[in-house]
Amino acid sequence: MKSVRNVIILGSGCAGNTAAIYAGRAGLNPLVIIGHEPGGQLSITTDVENFPGFPDGIQGPDLVANMQKQAERFGAEYVYGTVDAADLSKRPFRISIDGEWQETRTLIIASGASARWLGLPNEQQLIGKGVSSCATCDGAFYKEKKIMVIGGGDSAMEEATFLTRFGSEVSLVHRRDEFRASKIMLDRAKANPKIKWLVNTAVDDIFDVTKGEVTGVKLRNLKTGHVWDQEVDGFFLAIGHIPNTKPFVGQIDLDPDGYILSKGGARTNVTGVFHAGDVQDRIYRQAITAAGAGCMAAIEVERFLEHQGH
Ligand SMILES: Cc1cc2nc3c(=O)[nH]c(=O)nc-3n(C[C@H](O)[C@H](O)[C@H](O)COP(=O)(O)OP(=O)(O)OC[C@H]3O[C@@H](n4cnc5c(N)ncnc54)[C@H](O)[C@@H]3O)c2cc1C
Repeated sequence: MKSVRNVIILGSGCAGNTAAIYAGRAGLNPLVIIGHEPGGQLSITTDVENFPGFPDGIQGPDLVANMQKQAERFGAEYVYGTVDAADLSKRPFRISIDGEWQETRTLIIASGASARWLGLPNEQQLIGKGVSSCATCDGAFYKEKKIMVIGGGDSAMEEATFLTRFGSEVSLVHRRDEFRASKIMLDRAKANPKIKWLVNTAVDDIFDVTKGEVTGVKLRNLKTGHVWDQEVDGFFLAIGHIPNTKPFVGQIDLDPDGYILSKGGARTNVTGVFHAGDVQDRIYRQAITAAGAGCMAAIEVERFLEHQGH
């Protein structure tokens, strides 16, 4: 076992990187576990236009790479690997990084929540090129364009309604003709004349990988079997997120969907374990809110360690 760390930060997205900048500047020599997605969700997108400080926008991968560079400047150490198990029953906590155990006085969980995708062959290749899981982030790119939203829950209703501000039309595609969405959200969406409803419908394919942008989709009516192509410019998934909290099930309080339950500020129910970013936030899910949460978690760590005499 290596020497006990002051703080381990799990995740290299906006939350983890920002926590690393603050913890690094506080002289805590943080260890950042990069995880399966180096740089987090922004690493799979292109233009980011809403992160303050970049009047002309910035590419997602550049933004997270800059954050990592900034954290390393202050002594943050980044290691490739994934946390596959943890023992948070006593301090120092024990964290397994691909089977190798490491002790730490504090832990910041900034492991994000991965968007659910449909799993279509072309989908992943078109993320950031017309395929998106975030209407707030990417809606403004589709002014007067044809937009499609997939899903039947509250977020699908919210995203479709929001996207009518931009698109010339918004088609909402849902596999069934009943909706999980609450009545109020559904009624609001139904009252919006810009939303066209495609129920009992599945998406079989997205085009056009050769052009490097979304130009259309292949749809199938699940009741009649009718198959057709439809022109689309922006394709938005709203079928949920999966919080990356598997190693902590049974060790910290999670809500029924697996998101960390906050005990105020950045605190979890386990003293010395803090949360940051989308792994706890099911509402805002933005780069800037994740970065802010990373800052909060690092400040809490710093004060906790100070209080403990470290
Ligand atoms: C396509 C797309 C476009 C977007 N565009 C924008 C935008 O324009 N503007 C905006 O503000 N927001 C945008 N977002 C949302 C933004 O990316 C997220 O809100 C933000 O990345 C959340 O940061 P995070 O650090 O909490 O989590 P994430 O970015 O999800 O990072 C999580 C990190 O945790 C790591 N990890 C997970 N599990 C483990 C584990 N077991 N062990 C170790 N590490 C682990 C992962 O490798 C990853 O590095 C977009 C999201 C997507 C998907």
